[in-house]
Amino acid sequence: MTDIIDGRAVAEGIRTDLGESIQTLKDEGVTPGLATVLMSDDPASETYVSMKQRDCEEVGINGIHIEIDPEAPAEELYETIDDLNEDPEVHGILVQMPVPDHVDSQQVLRAIDPKKDADGFHPENVGMLVAGHPRFKPCTPHGVQKLLESVDVDPEGKDVVIVGRSNIVGKPLANLLIQKAEGGNATVTVCHSRTDDLAAKTRDADVVVAACGVPELIDGSMLSDGVTVIDVGVNRVDADNEKGYELVGDVDFDSAKEKASAITPVPGGVGPMTRAMLLYNTVKAAGEQADVEVEL
Ligand code: NDP
Repeated sequence: MTDIIDGRAVAEGIRTDLGESIQTLKDEGVTPGLATVLMSDDPASETYVSMKQRDCEEVGINGIHIEIDPEAPAEELYETIDDLNEDPEVHGILVQMPVPDHVDSQQVLRAIDPKKDADGFHPENVGMLVAGHPRFKPCTPHGVQKLLESVDVDPEGKDVVIVGRSNIVGKPLANLLIQKAEGGNATVTVCHSRTDDLAAKTRDADVVVAACGVPELIDGSMLSDGVTVIDVGVNRVDADNEKGYELVGDVDFDSAKEKASAITPVPGGVGPMTRAMLLYNTVKAAGEQADVEVEL
């Protein structure tokens, strides 16, 4: 029997637990605050940001949303970030990516106060993660770790293959999983578009994490029996329905399910976890900034 990992349920459990920490903070007079900044008119980015704001409202985090005209000079974004860095009611800051071409995304990441960097992408936080002392674990990789935990798959000693080496998913996840710490201690292979014989790598894995942005790249023929499959991918493909499209992952779910002992669906797998872990980082940031101990 294949375990279909219910990311929505796991995320709900995390949100419920966070509720207690948020209450602890409120009892001390601190309401955690997350600022989202959108400098784009891309409908997908608008949807992501509004979902994040709705999540904040649901758990009692103070959500602050700022929109900047995508045509505005980059300085307007930096000034906004500076103001948020100084605002004591804001504990976490997230600038929705991608930003327009005339804005340097690396400079944006560096402009955010590392202590308020709810995404965990500031170079200081990346360094702390690589050094084995993460301050904020990036949301999607942290969510993947929690999903593995939810089905009692301890990475320790396991061969994990990650397909994708991006700065937001593949690389930080590899760093988390090789850490000498709970939820780590795996042997990790990171694959990418230049990897030779990807199927040979994935077939050797106990755990496959697909994060390549290629619809249904990983199918059952590339997997061994009993593998755990985590599908990070979210891809829009044309479909004969009202919307004209549907969302599929980087894994061909039907054939992979035949091999896997546990597998995440798309949607309803990693996506809800990414959102829950953003709330987690905001609560952690608020606790640290207000010097209030919160259980996480
Ligand atoms: P990127 O495009 O930044 O990175 C994709 C990675 O996959 C690259 O390292 C690329 O290799 C590699 N890759 C591309 N094609 C192949 C291939 N044929 N074989 C092996 N490797 C390949 O993507 P992201 O990391 O930002 O996102 C990956 C997927 O996850 C996307 O579908 C995205 O929508 C989704 N996503 C979902 C989230 C969620 O919350 N559910 C959050 C973030 C992302 P190379 O480096 O050589 O180019």
